[in-house]
Amino acid sequence: MIKTHGYAAQSATTAPAPFDYEHRSPGPKDVHITVDFCGICHSDIHQARNEWGNAIYPMVPGHEVLGTVKAIGSEVTKFKVGDLAAIGCMVDSCRVCESCKAGEEQYCNNQATVFTYNSRDKQGNLTFGGYGNNIVADESFVLKVPANLDPAATAPLLCAGITTYSPLKHWNAGPGKKVGVVGLGGLGHMALKFSHAFGAHTVQFTTSASKVEDAKKLGADEVILTKEEGWAAKHAGSFDLIIDCVSADHDVNSYLNLLKRDGVLCTVGAPEDPIKIAAFSILGRKTLTGSMIGGIAETQEMLDFCSKHNIVSDIEMASFDKLEEVWDRVVKGDVKYRFVLDLKTLN
Ligand code: NAP
Ligand code: ZN
Ligand code: ZN
Repeated sequence: MIKTHGYAAQSATTAPAPFDYEHRSPGPKDVHITVDFCGICHSDIHQARNEWGNAIYPMVPGHEVLGTVKAIGSEVTKFKVGDLAAIGCMVDSCRVCESCKAGEEQYCNNQATVFTYNSRDKQGNLTFGGYGNNIVADESFVLKVPANLDPAATAPLLCAGITTYSPLKHWNAGPGKKVGVVGLGGLGHMALKFSHAFGAHTVQFTTSASKVEDAKKLGADEVILTKEEGWAAKHAGSFDLIIDCVSADHDVNSYLNLLKRDGVLCTVGAPEDPIKIAAFSILGRKTLTGSMIGGIAETQEMLDFCSKHNIVSDIEMASFDKLEEVWDRVVKGDVKYRFVLDLKTLN
């Protein structure tokens, strides 16, 4: 077994604290990674504070994991010791169902997706994420990290990146399309960068006046401050696609009204409360849908796209001793635009 030190949430109401635990010794197809950086996703906070009602404690969060290969199993072919490697939100799935075979392991028909933390592996063991100094996973679920990108700023691509890249690709964001992004946080700023890189006319919606100028620099063709009176009127019925990245309860109807006929509002945000929709918001043949992360092959495609176009996340570095404070700042929308834990600060 591999002795591991990290931070765990022990209950919904206590601050994450130092915790010692073990990962399995690498099997023939496993890669053992020493973690260098781990992005802080709002999902870490939702789960640690049991806002989705599915928490298993002790919980070592972290699914934007980037590190260095320390050891490999005898049958590993994709990695060698010393390589950079990354792990996102999943570490296994059934691998035989139609979704898994299609490379959409996150939608495994057998509900056998094993998530990186707050989940159980095929042996029934609790999984532990990137807020700890080691991680072990089957090489099929480990990503290759492009050498030209800054490693700390690459970590958030493993969740915030793929979660926004996947629906933008699926609904063909590109030239001639008008795409909206709601919420300029970790996911939102990646949605904005990708939509801009794909060539869509991209409109950022934000509740924060302090983010308007940044949004333009990040690639927005237009920025709408939704705290201002009458903000929606100018854009009614004009969007092909809107990606909603908001982490808390908000009025989705205003955004459905901005869609064209057959337009799509895709929520990637996962607030704890149910979404309330007025029938009249969708009667104009509007689609409200959702999207969850992205498959392993598409995650590698996204990383390679980022390598080619020099796209990484805008980050603020965080240390373990300030973890609770940093989480509270994320909840307030006070981060530009993703916190990344430096594992060197772990003691
Ligand atoms: P984040 O960095 O906290 O960003 C959320 C943004 O939403 C904030 O920056 C803020 O943007 C806006 N916002 C927050 N509270 C709001 C409110 N009460 N009303 C309106 N806007 C509000 O979070 P994140 O890490 O990007 O994650 C966003 C959501 O996606 C979370 O719920 C997370 O769990 C979920 N998620 C889903 C997937 C998936 O697979 N579907 C993957 C990862 C995360 P402005 O300041 O610009 O308004
Ligand atoms: Zn995430
Ligand atoms: Zn499956």
